[in-house]
Amino acid sequence: MTALLTVAWIATTARAAEEERATIPPNVVLIFTDDQGYEDLGCFGSPDIDTPHLDQLAREGVRLTDFYVSQAVCSASRAALLTGCYSNRIGILGALGPKSNHGISSSELTIAEMLRERGYATAIFGKWHLGHHPQFLPTRHGFDQFFGLPYSNDMWPFHPVNPEAWPPLPMYENEKIIDAEVTGDDQTQLTTRYTERAVDFIQQNRERPFFLYVPHSMPHVPLYVSRKFAGKSSRGLYGDVIMEIDWSVGEILRTLKENGLDDQTLVIFTSDNGPWLSYGDHAGAVGVLREGKGTMWDGGCREPFIARWPGRIPAGAVCREVAGTIDILPTLAELTGGKLPDHAIDGKSIWPLLSGRKGARSPHEYYLFYYGRQLQAIRSGRWKLHFPHAYRSLKGEPGSGGKPGPYVQKQTGVALYDLVQDPSESVDLQDDFPEVVARLLQAGEAARNELGDNGRNGSGVRQPGRLAKQAP
Ligand code: MG
Repeated sequence: MTALLTVAWIATTARAAEEERATIPPNVVLIFTDDQGYEDLGCFGSPDIDTPHLDQLAREGVRLTDFYVSQAVCSASRAALLTGCYSNRIGILGALGPKSNHGISSSELTIAEMLRERGYATAIFGKWHLGHHPQFLPTRHGFDQFFGLPYSNDMWPFHPVNPEAWPPLPMYENEKIIDAEVTGDDQTQLTTRYTERAVDFIQQNRERPFFLYVPHSMPHVPLYVSRKFAGKSSRGLYGDVIMEIDWSVGEILRTLKENGLDDQTLVIFTSDNGPWLSYGDHAGAVGVLREGKGTMWDGGCREPFIARWPGRIPAGAVCREVAGTIDILPTLAELTGGKLPDHAIDGKSIWPLLSGRKGARSPHEYYLFYYGRQLQAIRSGRWKLHFPHAYRSLKGEPGSGGKPGPYVQKQTGVALYDLVQDPSESVDLQDDFPEVVARLLQAGEAARNELGDNGRNGSGVRQPGRLAKQAP
């Protein structure tokens, strides 16, 4: 009898521990690379770049194969990631630079603000790119700590095309410039330094919930790698750079494990946009996808996505439903009890997809592909309809050795692609499926009413933050 009671007691205690663990909000580690291609990871099919730590992350978690960013360019993409909104809704488009006088609005809610409200320690180690004036810096938008670059690492006086256009590149610690002129030598240490900060941050916050955002500057050009990885990849410098990012992921995973945090930490890995194809051997690979950065063909906006949370996300899972960076904020809200903003957002929780709930489907009946202010395409399930738009495409051979080759502008009309059968967006099926075309044209029209289109205002568009005018 006593033995039976003991067994029952142990079972009850184990169940209670399990339930308690399930209700503790997870730590969140969000790793975001820059201009990385869909096919640059082993677990996403790279034939020539070794990424053992990311492959391990995928084996222990879920891969999303049809995961999109909001726009295929740095600032717009980051704005969407951190706010759960299409970039157009919050007025952050393109890539901000040292002359930009706008940035993320103080009225938007970032993931960091939402989680800090829940008692999380928050940090960003890497590239910000949502405005460099003090009011736009990460420390004003929910991050306790910032170490890194305010914008892209090619916005400096060594730019290969127009060096005279750029002032020296600064490095920030919180709101202070700690290095006014980042050099090439400094750039070789970026991945290492971001990683050291990330490891320290995890160790310091092992007793409380934390949100760690690591938006790597690499593999955005100009490519730089530390001595640890120089010459290590058969894919050349680009491969070396990805191998170093993979090492960085490994350091973060090792630190989580050593601190007993694996089971209470959600780790997410993805990228801001596809490869900058004009840089040739200094750009990533898209595999079978069409085009790259700066276009809303899938090579520009579809990204490798991995999420791991042992015990909560099934190991080795693959999900082919449509999802995007706009979904991360609402997913984290669901997992942490975070409060969503009162204003409209576009993302939806994808926890049913990540956790492998049976029969879970994409929360997006329609996913929108804007570039700049133009609605260029829309996806629903397997179908992606392009509206007429111009796009850039390589003009002949790309550049090499860090110098870009030329683009040419091309034009597409209305075109319908079946992304399940034809991920390369190569066979236009509009004549075979006129009812699908009609449905998507109508959905596009509804989107324009809300988020606008070239020359047309949307009722749901909000303004970015703007620098206050200086008194004369
Ligand atoms: Mg980018």
